[in-house]
Amino acid sequence: MTSRTVRAQHPSHRDDIGDLVTRRPVPGPRLPHLDPFLFLNHHGPQTYPPNNRGLPFGPHPHRGFETVTFILEGELSHLDSGGHESIIHAGGVQWMTAGSGLVHAELSPASFKQSGGPLEILQLWVNLPSRLKMTAPAYTGLQRQDIPAIPLGGATLNLIAGHHENHKGPVDWLLGGFMSTVDFEPGASLTLPAPAGEAVFLYVVGGELKIGGEPVKPHHLIELNEGEGVQIEATSAATILYGHAEPLREPIVAHGPFVMNTREEIVQAITDYNAGKFGAL
Ligand code: FE
Repeated sequence: MTSRTVRAQHPSHRDDIGDLVTRRPVPGPRLPHLDPFLFLNHHGPQTYPPNNRGLPFGPHPHRGFETVTFILEGELSHLDSGGHESIIHAGGVQWMTAGSGLVHAELSPASFKQSGGPLEILQLWVNLPSRLKMTAPAYTGLQRQDIPAIPLGGATLNLIAGHHENHKGPVDWLLGGFMSTVDFEPGASLTLPAPAGEAVFLYVVGGELKIGGEPVKPHHLIELNEGEGVQIEATSAATILYGHAEPLREPIVAHGPFVMNTREEIVQAITDYNAGKFGAL
C-alpha cells in the first residue's frame, strides 16, 4: 500500500459572524473546492456567557447539496420546512440533504442561551451530482450514542458514513463515501483508508499531528497526494475531520445557499425560492 503524502496545507481564514468565532479553510484562495467537498466552517472553540443570543443562523434556504454539521461542544437546535426538528448535543451530527430545496434554521436551544457554555461546531457542505440535485430533501439527526466509536491505534474513530472493518456508519451517504471524526490521544498512530482515485478531506480541528511523517498545523486543510492510505501520528491530543469520496467531475455554479451545475439552474432556484416552493418554517 502506498501511503499518501502531504501536497499542501491550506490555512483557514478568519471570518467571524457576530460573536461567533468562524474559520474557513475552503473555499480559499488556492483551493476553491475539493470535489465533491465544497465548503467548511469551523465555529469556536469558544465559551458563550449566560444570557447570550446563541447562534445567528435563522431561516434560510438551500438547494443542490448536503450540509453535514458536527457538534463537538455545545448544542444545536434544527428546524426545517420538511418538518424535521431536533436538538443535537455534543458528539452528535446532523446530516441534511437539501436536494430540491428546503428552508432551515440552525439556532441555540433556550437552555444554552440562558446558561451559556462551550461551543465548537463544524459545518461541511458536500456536493450532489446533477442526477441528485433535485432529490427529495432529507434529514438525519444523530446523537453521540448513535455513532460507532471504534478504538484504533490509541485513537477513536467516530464513524458517521461508510464502513470500517465490520462496522457501518449510521448515514447512507448518497455519494457512497466515508465520513468520520477521529480523536487522538498523544502518541496515537494509525493508518486510515484513502482509496486510490478518491478525494480525501482531512481538516485538523485541533492538536499536533504528523501525516506521513510531516508535521501539519491545526486549523489547516491538508491536501494529499495520490495513494491508498493515510498514516497519521499524534504528538498531542488532537482531532481531525476525515472523509473521502469519488469526485463528481461536474461544473459547479454556486450562489450563496444554492449549488448547481449551470447559471440557469441558479436563476431557477432563486425563482422557486421566491415563489415559496421550498416551503416555510
Ligand atoms: Fe444552512
